[in-house]
Amino acid sequence: MHELPVTESILEISLRHAKQAEARRITDLHLVIGQLASIVDDSVQFYWDIISKDTLAEGAILHFRRIETELRCLDCTLNYKPAEYDMACPSCGGSNVRVVAGEEFFLESIDVEN
Ligand SMILES: [Zn+2]
Repeated sequence: MHELPVTESILEISLRHAKQAEARRITDLHLVIGQLASIVDDSVQFYWDIISKDTLAEGAILHFRRIETELRCLDCTLNYKPAEYDMACPSCGGSNVRVVAGEEFFLESIDVEN
């Protein structure tokens, strides 16, 4: 249920940028979400429709780009994409791992109309 504050900060950032660009309207937002970031697209979209109302961003389309989880085995230094239910290293079976990718959540870019 933490999508609301997350969505609010996306709106705030995009409105700030739109203002700087003297845009009349925000048309598209491009968001990047890592598989491990527990953010649900539909919830973001749900809150977005509510909080963007009567702002420059009303009606803007949200685009989500998912980043696959990638781990690095600290025992044998292999980088790999883990299977859904098995995070262990496919090479040495180790579980001493570090997350390389998949925890991202950020606003990549916005498209505006001047
Ligand atoms: Zn390993």
